[in-house]
Amino acid sequence: MNAPIIPRQSRKVRLAIKQELICPYCGNESELVTGRTIYPHRRDLYDRLFYHCAPCEAHVGCHRASKKYGVETVPLGRLANAELRALKIKAHEAFDPLWMNSRQYRGIAYRWLADKMRIPLDDCHIGLFNEDQCKQVFMLCQSGQDTLLLHSRGANGPNAYR
Ligand SMILES: [Zn+2]
Repeated sequence: MNAPIIPRQSRKVRLAIKQELICPYCGNESELVTGRTIYPHRRDLYDRLFYHCAPCEAHVGCHRASKKYGVETVPLGRLANAELRALKIKAHEAFDPLWMNSRQYRGIAYRWLADKMRIPLDDCHIGLFNEDQCKQVFMLCQSGQDTLLLHSRGANGPNAYR
């Protein structure tokens, strides 16, 4: 076992955790559980932590412990029920091809998305989005692909986007 990482979290991170403790569907406090509760058939997730609201069948995973996040109780986003989880997967399917696993284009793509959604770049994470925002992502990705294609063909960019 690794030595536990000493929690040293910024105020922002602590606030984020506090917010995520509340289930957005019922308003009750969620519970911190391990992957064993959520995915009993996934032994590889048994050591991961999740915030879970059993009555709403809503959950969200946590970041792995790291320098940036300190302990591993920092949620990846808000709690999501089955419907929202499916929408987030679809939002990623629509959005991720725009940056094609390129770090360089990922930044451009997220800036573009934040701009179109009129939200701060810091809040622009599909993990944090609600149902309407996920739907907005599909719409924008459909209509915005051409704009991004042009951006990606800047002076230094290879023609990575076909
Ligand atoms: Zn709930």
